[in-house]
Amino acid sequence: MNHFLAREDFPHLLRALTQAGYDCVGPQIRQGAIVFDHLHSVTQLPQGWQDEQQPAHYRLEQTDSPYWFDWSNGASAIKPYTFAPQENLWTVQRDQSGRLRFQATLPKPQKTAIIGVRACDLAALALQDQHFLHGKHVDPYYQARRESLLLIGVNCTHAAATCFCVSTGDGPEIRQPYDLLLSEIAAGFLLSSGSTAGATLAAQLPLTPASNAQQHTAQQRMHAATQQQRHLPAKPPLFAHLDHPHWQTVGARCLACGNCTSVCPTCFCHQAVEIPDLDGDTSRHERRWDSCFQPGHSYIHGWQIRSNATDYYRQWLTHKLAGWHEQFGRSGCTGCGRCISWCPAGIDLTAEVEQLG
Ligand code: SF4
Ligand code: SF4
Repeated sequence: MNHFLAREDFPHLLRALTQAGYDCVGPQIRQGAIVFDHLHSVTQLPQGWQDEQQPAHYRLEQTDSPYWFDWSNGASAIKPYTFAPQENLWTVQRDQSGRLRFQATLPKPQKTAIIGVRACDLAALALQDQHFLHGKHVDPYYQARRESLLLIGVNCTHAAATCFCVSTGDGPEIRQPYDLLLSEIAAGFLLSSGSTAGATLAAQLPLTPASNAQQHTAQQRMHAATQQQRHLPAKPPLFAHLDHPHWQTVGARCLACGNCTSVCPTCFCHQAVEIPDLDGDTSRHERRWDSCFQPGHSYIHGWQIRSNATDYYRQWLTHKLAGWHEQFGRSGCTGCGRCISWCPAGIDLTAEVEQLG
């Protein structure tokens, strides 16, 4: 059953999280964009701010609205909290007898509560779980971070012009597992728990039963976010159109900057780098985010398989929208629209897929 948490009582949630040992993270404005960062007070939340997103366009506007979450997803997904952009995987040291000693450097992450996670990003997290946790090999680095998270979702009430989560089936209503779920209305939040940890926290809050009117308002506000301008077909037949001339047209516009893969909440490609110490006896093995738009990404045994923007983009889109169906049983896109807003060339995968038939 839904409960109601008055807006002025939201600090109780932050206190309960802190007392339970969580570092709170929530949306805040940094350099003109909404990103996740440490949250100590509700005054840090982007009250009244709304976003305008278009291909190659992201702007925030301050309004006098009382809402804290009345914007669609910001620049950063929650991906860095599970799949670190850069981390040490192991060190190796030569001992006095000349033998190499390997030592794994598993992270010991602080318990972290992320407040304000959206439906598209929870869907992306489920996909990353599939890749890092539910395959043949479990990634212990991802696992350690993932297990340290408490997820507080917020249902979207506003879709940017770049959003298309309705067509991918991932939003705007949260359908993936969460610990606590919030729906914002003017006076506060409808709240429900989705885990034992969430229920324990909810029990410490001054909640009242949500009235029918409050539930109706929350549903209406969420319905507004279902009005979306963009659409992505469930399984575009990209492998059947690998020679389509439109790949060249996109390739001529693409700068191969890799912004699309950095902001994408599902992209998980990485490179491994060996960093030897100057003493000659020690070395660190580091994992860093990589992108299929980087020349070195397809380098195998002296041969670079893909060497231009047309090939990079074709690889990215065919893998994301077609190859993932074979690997993971669904598309690798959750309709967040970030790759459209943050592409400096305004390349829009929904429009490109339409052209590619
Ligand atoms: S491909 Fe683009 S729209 Fe889809 S999940 Fe990645 S960033 Fe979001
Ligand atoms: S599609 Fe856009 S964001 Fe991606 S590499 Fe090309 S120019 Fe950069």
